[in-house]
Amino acid sequence: MDLSTLLNTPAGPDFREWSLRARHLTDRFKGRTVTFSPKVFIPLTRLCRDFCSYCTYRLDPGQAEQIFLSPDEVLKIARAGQRAGCSEALFVLGERPEQRYPEARDWLKRRGFGSSIEYLRSVCQLVLLETALFPHSNPGTLTRSELASLKEVNASMGLMLECASTRLCAPGGPHEFAPSKHPRARLQTLQRAGELKIPFTTGILAGIGETRRERLESLQRIRQLHDRYGHIQEVIIQNFRPQPETAMASAPEVLLEEMLETIAAARLVLGGEMNLQAPPNLAPASKNGQSPSYLRYLEAGINDWGGISPVTIDHVNPGSPWPHLHRFRAGVESRGYRLRARFPVYPEYFLNSSNYLNNGIRGRLRHLSDAEGYPRSVVGLGKRTGAFELEKGSSRAAGSVQ
Ligand code: SF4
Repeated sequence: MDLSTLLNTPAGPDFREWSLRARHLTDRFKGRTVTFSPKVFIPLTRLCRDFCSYCTYRLDPGQAEQIFLSPDEVLKIARAGQRAGCSEALFVLGERPEQRYPEARDWLKRRGFGSSIEYLRSVCQLVLLETALFPHSNPGTLTRSELASLKEVNASMGLMLECASTRLCAPGGPHEFAPSKHPRARLQTLQRAGELKIPFTTGILAGIGETRRERLESLQRIRQLHDRYGHIQEVIIQNFRPQPETAMASAPEVLLEEMLETIAAARLVLGGEMNLQAPPNLAPASKNGQSPSYLRYLEAGINDWGGISPVTIDHVNPGSPWPHLHRFRAGVESRGYRLRARFPVYPEYFLNSSNYLNNGIRGRLRHLSDAEGYPRSVVGLGKRTGAFELEKGSSRAAGSVQ
């Protein structure tokens, strides 16, 4: 469905029609399989040069326990993930803290790194060499050469567009003091990733002050980038949730119906082939108290839940725990869907294509995947621990990135 049709359709009564069309489109292209990525969340640093009005992740040097996680701390988290059956090491960090804080600059300099991006590259390489996990990094806006160097040690990468409207960067807006959130900077990084053929995750953050038109236009910008480069592997529809002690603590929450409408619109704008994701742990409550409300996202056209961890919390939304894995699977199956674990990079980017990944990472992925490109050795969710159980004699640690 084209954007102008959607923009000219009033919200509310027509939602049911959108939802039905979105669901049919999803069923046609994705069938009844819905995926998730078993991951560990590695908060490499919580320092950040920017200030977004809704952020609970960033800390000043005086508040943070440490400036950066050490290589040993990174490996400890990654190994715990490997034992629990995860395949993704999600690296999250604040934007270039060394540009604001001498403490971050000194920490990096003492260890021979000129920037947080150089340090990130080194720990991604370490995880590849020492564990069976695949790095997926979200380090913010990047230059072309930084993207190229990170591509060598990541299976895929991500940067949320959040919103393509410059209005949110104006005085009083949530991005007034966050230059990296200017849409020009973010679209430029997304475009560079396309030119470099990096499988990329992006998405919108719904409810931070944008209008319905701006939300739809943001989705359309993502669609245009993907039409040109083919590298957007998934689009996240994430809802803002007000957090205490932030400038937007009293801002209104996105309601469930609004999320469902946005997901359906995203499916219609992005088409049936796109992988569409919404985080289950952030789903707004349903009006009738029906629980879990995230299962309704299936009606609106998602085919993926994003990363879910049996080991680490969601450090960006610490008050929103991941669903319990057994109840999660039971709920998904009760709606007639099959839940499958996936790698951080989707099968279409490595199974029958050599255009996107370096040979080492691609070879390891193919070694560990089944004929459809899903992890071979993850057989299900552990009954007692909630961890992802591995097959006996699994060779997950096999394979090489050299
Ligand atoms: S750029 Fe990211 S880490 Fe930094 S303040 Fe904004 S949301 Fe927080």
